[in-house]
Amino acid sequence: MSSSINNLICAFLLILTAGSSSTLAQSADSHVHGNAELNIVLMGQQLQVEFVSPAINLLGFERPPITDEESAAMDDTINQLRHGGWLIEGIPTACQLSTEEFEAPVYEEHESSEHDHEHESSEHDHQHESSEHDAEAHSNFRVRYLYDCDTAPRRQLKILAFDHYSGIETLTVQWIADQKQGYARLNRDDPVLDFE
Ligand SMILES: [Zn+2]
Repeated sequence: MSSSINNLICAFLLILTAGSSSTLAQSADSHVHGNAELNIVLMGQQLQVEFVSPAINLLGFERPPITDEESAAMDDTINQLRHGGWLIEGIPTACQLSTEEFEAPVYEEHESSEHDHEHESSEHDHQHESSEHDAEAHSNFRVRYLYDCDTAPRRQLKILAFDHYSGIETLTVQWIADQKQGYARLNRDDPVLDFE
């Protein structure tokens, strides 16, 4: 089993590498309101799914929450994304779902009060460099799930993101399924991904 996980990770890295150096780069790097991205690797009985979305698609805003309702929306979204299960319909119940990575937007509005001025040159600058969203004043959610199944998942997957988040209008999908790879663009009327 561990070698198949290694294969899966290799395939996933491949998709990322391909994304950064080819025509897929645009989709991998873009932050387009209304669009979210899926990077999917299906290998045997394992399915790895990365979901990336501008925060505004999920929250309705892309800044620190101000009202109680916005704080609740942020909490609900984080909770839903962390626990998976919401994204894809028809995954066999024999699959074990784990969340391998999770990133929520970190808004640094309170920097000036929380950080001492003495620290600004060290920690503070560092944070800015490492956070590409600051420069753009945009922010993303990013989560990566692994479905480890007893039987191979179907080769057609219905994506439920549109049902959960009205702010998602399109989904750009890069996938690798065993020996094949492809690109798809899904929307509310056409939410089914087909690995063929
Ligand atoms: Zn944005």
